[in-house]
Amino acid sequence: MNQRRSFLKSSALLASALGVPALARAAPTMPHERTLRMYNTHTGESLRTVFWAEGKFVPDAMADINKLLRDHRNNQVAQMDPKLLFLLDQVSAAVGSNEVVHIISGYRSPASNQLLAETTNGVAKHSLHLEAKAIDVRIPGRDLAMLHKAALHAGGGGVGYYPDSQFVHMDTGRLRHW
Ligand SMILES: [Zn+2]
Repeated sequence: MNQRRSFLKSSALLASALGVPALARAAPTMPHERTLRMYNTHTGESLRTVFWAEGKFVPDAMADINKLLRDHRNNQVAQMDPKLLFLLDQVSAAVGSNEVVHIISGYRSPASNQLLAETTNGVAKHSLHLEAKAIDVRIPGRDLAMLHKAALHAGGGGVGYYPDSQFVHMDTGRLRHW
């Protein structure tokens, strides 16, 4: 019982330290370990890793995730915002736990973003992908509209819906949606 109580306390502390109210509300159901399964649609790389355990991030797992989410055009690796990983975990759990999340875009270097902005409609010049605070995802076998709803419900930041390209954009910036 005591163990449980102190665990809940540490989860709430963690969530509030991350500054994500929606996550703080979700803290009582936060498991001891959080696992992410990802597949990068550009590189074909995949991973399944426990990125958070015993009340803290697992450095090796974070390094693996950062590598998988790198700019695939020039292999530049950035430190992804940990809040984004919690958000992704929360949203993917809401639509069906332990599914593989397909990554369409994670970190984008300035050069890649400029190239995309010149060639693709709807790419922001100051995209949060540049700050490693945004991710574009789909979960095969799960309804994209449901994923979109779950992302909006999580309230972790910006949410963009791209049904034509079959992905949802999530970021840890200001609350907004398009
Ligand atoms: Zn995006």
